[in-house]
Amino acid sequence: QSFCSRLPKVELHAHLNGSFSEKTLYSLYMDSPGCKTEDIRYLISSFHQGSDRTLDDCFKNFDIAHAVTISPAAVRRGTMDVISEFASDGVIYLELRTTPRTVPGVMSKKQYIQAVVDAIRDVPNFIGPERFIIVKLLLSVNRRDERSEAEANIKEAVEAHMAYPDIVVGVDLSGDPKCGTVAENILPLFADARSKGLKVALHCAEVPNEKEVEAIIRFKADRIGHGTCIHPQYGGSEKLWTLLLESKVPIEVCLTSNIKCKTVENYESHHLQHLLPVHHPIAISTDDKGVFCTTLSKEFEIAAETFLLSFGDLCRFTEMAIDASFASPDEKNQLLEKLNNFKVLEG
Ligand code: 5GP
Repeated sequence: QSFCSRLPKVELHAHLNGSFSEKTLYSLYMDSPGCKTEDIRYLISSFHQGSDRTLDDCFKNFDIAHAVTISPAAVRRGTMDVISEFASDGVIYLELRTTPRTVPGVMSKKQYIQAVVDAIRDVPNFIGPERFIIVKLLLSVNRRDERSEAEANIKEAVEAHMAYPDIVVGVDLSGDPKCGTVAENILPLFADARSKGLKVALHCAEVPNEKEVEAIIRFKADRIGHGTCIHPQYGGSEKLWTLLLESKVPIEVCLTSNIKCKTVENYESHHLQHLLPVHHPIAISTDDKGVFCTTLSKEFEIAAETFLLSFGDLCRFTEMAIDASFASPDEKNQLLEKLNNFKVLEG
């Protein structure tokens, strides 16, 4: 086992339907008579496309995952697989995020959320006695959807948070950044969720958009996803970069996702190069470990090799992610203790 596999890690940016491994998708497909053969052919070819994928191709992959998770049982099984795989990779704290979905006549948004929550509540029974993982859930708004859908998802999130305050801890804005609503129009919905006790994580600056990015940074989300086109080198500006640094809002950094979606050219030129020297809080994350064929350990390894990081730097990454997480103070202490024990063991 490599150092990065052994290191206790914290995953803060993982979309449920993008995290299904090939194995999980096949097994869900076999149990899903409504799924068309052409879809699965596309799935097979897309898994082998590797770096030739574009952002648009990646978004097609989500449609495939959605096609095989059209019942609460499938959603629950898929969630259990994803949690088990993260736990096997040495992840001790996981925040999953997902967009509540309705399948007419089969599954309501509430049942969808319940299926994910049920899997999370069952964690101690299926990860095995030798493993440890705390799992939380964020509910997403897809910017492609109508405003009414965004309102419905936020309402579901608030209700789910009231029912399961220790599990449903936040809301997220995601979806194809090149289409749909401008974030500034729906930020008041997120402010409302925040006033009801939910934390807010917003995808931001995946493509250049000065006005929207400024509105999101000024909103002071609890965390920002990607944050690529903020620095002037990536179509942002000095003004946005300064605003970000002053805000101290942690950035969820998804190296492989950004390369495979071609929003960043290569690892060496990733915007992490600008965040590290100024000690801006970050959390190394997978985004969609199934779609991008990665693991959190691999992402740590890539960061370490690309930016010549030390044992101490990588432990510090876990520490920063614990700090940026939506865990309770007690849970954060528990996670820090695991990290400190590891440091002692590894010398
Ligand atoms: P789900 O919410 O269905 O569990 O996970 C898949 C969804 O997550 C996609 O349909 C998309 O809305 C969102 N998503 C996954 N990866 C990305 C990403 O890199 N950027 C953005 N903006 N959204 C993403």
